[in-house]
Amino acid sequence: MQDTAHQSPKNEPSFRESVDLMYERATGFMDISPGLKQKIRVCNSTYTVRFGVKLRGEMQTFTGYRSVHSEHAEPVKGGIRYAPDVNQNEVEALAALMTYKCALVEVPFGGSKGGLAIDPRKWEPDELERITRRFAYELIKRDLINPSQNVPAPDMGTGEREMAWIADQYKRMHTTDIDSRACVTGKPLASGGIRGRVEATGRGVQYAIREFFRHPEDIAAAQLTPFLRGKKVVVQGLGNVGYHAAKFLQEEDDCQIVAVIERDGAVINENGGLDIEILKRHIAETGGVADFPHGQHIEDGAKALELDCDILIPAALEGVIHGENADRIKARLIVEAANGPVTATADKTLRDKGVVIIPDMYANAGGVTVSYFEWVKNLSHIRFGRMQRRQEEARQELIIEALEKMTGNAFPEELRNAFVSGADELTLVRSGLDDTMRGAYGQMREVWRRRAAEGVDLRTAAYLIAVDRVQQSYESLGL
Ligand code: GLU
Repeated sequence: MQDTAHQSPKNEPSFRESVDLMYERATGFMDISPGLKQKIRVCNSTYTVRFGVKLRGEMQTFTGYRSVHSEHAEPVKGGIRYAPDVNQNEVEALAALMTYKCALVEVPFGGSKGGLAIDPRKWEPDELERITRRFAYELIKRDLINPSQNVPAPDMGTGEREMAWIADQYKRMHTTDIDSRACVTGKPLASGGIRGRVEATGRGVQYAIREFFRHPEDIAAAQLTPFLRGKKVVVQGLGNVGYHAAKFLQEEDDCQIVAVIERDGAVINENGGLDIEILKRHIAETGGVADFPHGQHIEDGAKALELDCDILIPAALEGVIHGENADRIKARLIVEAANGPVTATADKTLRDKGVVIIPDMYANAGGVTVSYFEWVKNLSHIRFGRMQRRQEEARQELIIEALEKMTGNAFPEELRNAFVSGADELTLVRSGLDDTMRGAYGQMREVWRRRAAEGVDLRTAAYLIAVDRVQQSYESLGL
């Protein structure tokens, strides 16, 4: 995405200030003691490490962070981001969001986040491996990577490959730990990953939007027409999250992706939309969206955030919708696939305009949800569905046999396969993710609808639920 991470206007609250302001606003609706309110808000600790790796004939120094926001539940969880301008404030804001996210979707983890100030595109894979292993070594040494204490995952600039290196590094340093694979999630299958993790965050965004469109009252609040089919969508960032969300919405829900914003501008097609697969291939081949033959290219990508569309999905950086452009946003529904894409100032403007925002801590919780499944899989040392699948199929066959005997009719052939097939790992992961997304949305919307007149929106509702859960676990700990 845009190299200028913080393109928000000068007097805009920073990402961290925005998270704090949103927290303050939400807790204003709660019955919580000032002391506990402060304790839950602050970040417990942030470890900064500067380490050297000899590369290209020269000692290179790198700066990395691992921040732990809340240990009310352990392990703490959250991705590791590789970006040139990663800093302590950003990592702490992201760690706080992880605490609330996990609490909201009932994933039994505290919140953490890590970052390495590096532009991963400037290094060769073998160099990145050495840098990653060295960073992991520093964190593992201090139990900031550990199956029972702190479990990282991918984030911006990292993916399966980096997680496999981290898992292997942990294994080398804990050769007898039978649970070592649970030290990190988002690993490739061959290193103990789980099916469906790569697309999990994008899938979760799709499930969140689908769930929103199951509630006529919520659709009406956003002043949208019923049904997701045919909705015009603008997506910012075609990285892992944005790509999967856009692809699923286009291929499975018949949405029209009218614009995609990338590092080198935006590509727009308001007549029928962009084919995401073809566009993704174009980006992989050329490095950007410019020259894409099936759309119009504009250099100032941020302008496309203001296009006339139904749903806007910022899936890139924080702070992209701010005090200066919020008023010009035309989408009626904003789905925060990225963390913190809307500043606190913009949040107020959009709320006043009646725009509905599905907040980051819910919208992008699919990643950590499936990470949770992966962690459980690693600790149980068995693939989901392995024991039951064939037994389920045998029972379904029996039911078919009984039905055929009882009715004297043959079971419809076209239904047979779907009816008989037992659930495999991917099916179970999707089912668990869908259940999580529907459940959390139901809880959020209940608070939102009940307290809308007081000024409670979906984000505030999400905070109210999450902070209440953290508060309860502090209280049960006797703190
Ligand atoms: N980096 C992702 C997030 O921000 C995933 C975290 C995880 O799976 O632990 O939610």
